[in-house]
Amino acid sequence: VILETVAHLGGHPTAHEVFQEARARLRGLNQATVYRNLDALHDAGLIDSIDPGTGQAGFAVRDAAHLHHHLVCSECGGVTEVPAKVLDRLAATLLQSHGFDLGTDHLTLVGRCRSCRSKGVPG
Ligand SMILES: [Zn+2]
Ligand SMILES: [Zn+2]
Repeated sequence: VILETVAHLGGHPTAHEVFQEARARLRGLNQATVYRNLDALHDAGLIDSIDPGTGQAGFAVRDAAHLHHHLVCSECGGVTEVPAKVLDRLAATLLQSHGFDLGTDHLTLVGRCRSCRSKGVPG
């Protein structure tokens, strides 16, 4: 039910949002159970845990056909999804020159978005 709920909600619901939705489906479900199950699903590699920069982790069903990363703006908090392949070259470079295998699932990259940059906010 938890996995279904994450899939049904789509996007990157927080644990609390998953709980709200799952509770509507499964009477008597408590929050600790939902959190524990999210952890277990994450450990099993069935869902990704994402830090969207809001301090509240989001969850998403891992979908190999739709791998992406998040660009999080440190000014406005806006989140943009980019296809995973934009980091392919970086991943290849790191592997080749550092023997480092980048965990390329669902990375969060923090920076400043186009609209904040165009406002000329310093930093
Ligand atoms: Zn911004
Ligand atoms: Zn995502």
